[in-house]
Amino acid sequence: MTMPRLLWPSYLDHMADKISKDIDLDELLDRVMVMAREDEMAGICLACLEDAYCEPDAECYACESCGARMVYGFDNLLLMMVA
Ligand SMILES: [Zn+2]
Repeated sequence: MTMPRLLWPSYLDHMADKISKDIDLDELLDRVMVMAREDEMAGICLACLEDAYCEPDAECYACESCGARMVYGFDNLLLMMVA
């Protein structure tokens, strides 16, 4: 099995250095799958890795924890991740 990786959209390259260095894509994928299964209003901030309340297709939303505009809804996160 190959490790999941993040397909960071190229038009957001200027924000790539804000992605948390502690990011664990396996763990992130698990969390995203749970959100997708429960189909809730949920996403994750890629800067601080906190859960966020947002639309599934949210992109670049401001994070309530760290203030970075790095909150992505689970639909978007799923699109960014491949197994
Ligand atoms: Zn954050």
